[in-house]
Amino acid sequence: MAPADFPNLHVSTHPAVLHKLALLRATTTEPKKFRELVREISWLVGYEALADARVRHIRVPTPIEETDGVKLADRIGLVPILRAGLGMVDAMLELMPTAEVWHLGLFRDERTLRPVEYYNKLPDSASVDLCLILDPMLATGGSATAAIEVLKRWGAVHPVRIKLLNLIAAPEGVRAVHEAHPDVPIYAAALDRQLNEKGYIMPGLGDAGDRQFGTGSS
Ligand code: URA
Repeated sequence: MAPADFPNLHVSTHPAVLHKLALLRATTTEPKKFRELVREISWLVGYEALADARVRHIRVPTPIEETDGVKLADRIGLVPILRAGLGMVDAMLELMPTAEVWHLGLFRDERTLRPVEYYNKLPDSASVDLCLILDPMLATGGSATAAIEVLKRWGAVHPVRIKLLNLIAAPEGVRAVHEAHPDVPIYAAALDRQLNEKGYIMPGLGDAGDRQFGTGSS
């Protein structure tokens, strides 16, 4: 579903996604279960995001006879934003086993709320058809727009497509990405209400990195 205000945003309405999302948000969900849920929801959102992946027609021999089949044709690059995006990688590799994974490290300066790049493992040239940026939370949109800019500077421009995969998006982040990069569709499991004064999504799930890796203070 694309909410009316945000034509670039696809929010999942699948009951399995909504069920898992409620578990993911709950304070009582401990890191092991949280990581499992991140993986499962990523799989489901990724499945929806890849609905228009390109295929090549092939012939397949079955034990009975030869038939028509397809093979995924898009070369895909997964770009997890460190560190919270790491938890989404395995699910996407299950869906697209031949995808390449390029890590991009952006942290949010807690004072300015602006992203700072500290790690970049992109290959020398853009050799893919589709880049999927993986980050569980789309908050201010600062990291997402910075990641998109890095990819475009690197060469991920038409005909290379870029998509953003999130678990939870805030309207502020969706708007920021859309204004800066209207060509980049966003796929998320939920669109939440707003950001709080610290840039956290409300109701959200807290810090997605801390909750995956057990590094939160509480
Ligand atoms: N990053 C998070 O992990 N959580 C938020 O709510 C916002 C940004």
